[in-house]
Amino acid sequence: MEIFRKVSDMQAFAKNAIREGKKIALVPTMGFLHEGHLSLIDRACKEADVVIVSIFVNPTQFGPTEDLDKYPRDFQRDKDLCEARGASAIFAPEPSEMYAPDRSIWVDEEKLSKKLCGKSRPIHFRGVCTVVSKLFNICLPDVAIFGQKDAQQALIIKRMVRDLNFPIEIIVSPLIREASGLAMSSRNKYLTAEQKEDALSLSRSLKTAEKMIAKDGLSACGAAVEAMRAEITTCNGEIDYIECLDSSTLEEPTDKTTELLIALAVKFGTTRLIDNILIGV
Ligand code: AMP
Repeated sequence: MEIFRKVSDMQAFAKNAIREGKKIALVPTMGFLHEGHLSLIDRACKEADVVIVSIFVNPTQFGPTEDLDKYPRDFQRDKDLCEARGASAIFAPEPSEMYAPDRSIWVDEEKLSKKLCGKSRPIHFRGVCTVVSKLFNICLPDVAIFGQKDAQQALIIKRMVRDLNFPIEIIVSPLIREASGLAMSSRNKYLTAEQKEDALSLSRSLKTAEKMIAKDGLSACGAAVEAMRAEITTCNGEIDYIECLDSSTLEEPTDKTTELLIALAVKFGTTRLIDNILIGV
């Protein structure tokens, strides 16, 4: 497995793979890998001949009061995991390699980015779209794999690829949970044992909401969200949002809605967790 720190080296490797007729898959990550990330690498290995995992804690997607500096990192462990799962290369640049001091171009999605996480993280998706565009131009993938864990991000990246005509297929891979139901996340490391227990209210309440909607359909959305609020608040969660929306538009569901997204962001102590569920209606 190769490790690249420089944009030019990564591009040269990708161009060479293309010349050899190989199909390239990209798995963008911020590292501190867990089974959720590794499931994306597994999917990438099924899709392509060459699998590039990018590991980059992207400063432009963090707000000034967010956890950029303390975001967990363990490159040696990540490297071993990528190698064990069959990745061909890691792209792990320094921020200075990715961003010129006088950079002045952004990629900004203007609609879906305003919803859900965008309300409390106003610059987040601009940073994500910009860095993912750069990673696409650096790694030259045919296909890129994203996780359903970040449902809004996956939707925005698909929109970006459509609207900017990136010749790249976007695959969204299922959300991986711990046996307890907790959605896997690098940020789970911040949780105390007690907070981790409290955080189980997220997946538990999503399941309850799913049952309510399975029974009574769209009309149960309001009550389902209220039931979630009650359960999560009882477990000391500080709710940023819980919303039940049309999964393809992120608008309120209508009679044309075929799939709902219930998405949430909740803080336990200082740790902000997200989770979601898709429900066919
Ligand atoms: P991150 O390192 O948190 O930026 O995540 C990198 C990629 O892994 C994103 O596409 C995430 O959606 C995906 N991912 C993170 N956690 C999970 C999970 N529990 N299940 C599936 N995909 C995940």
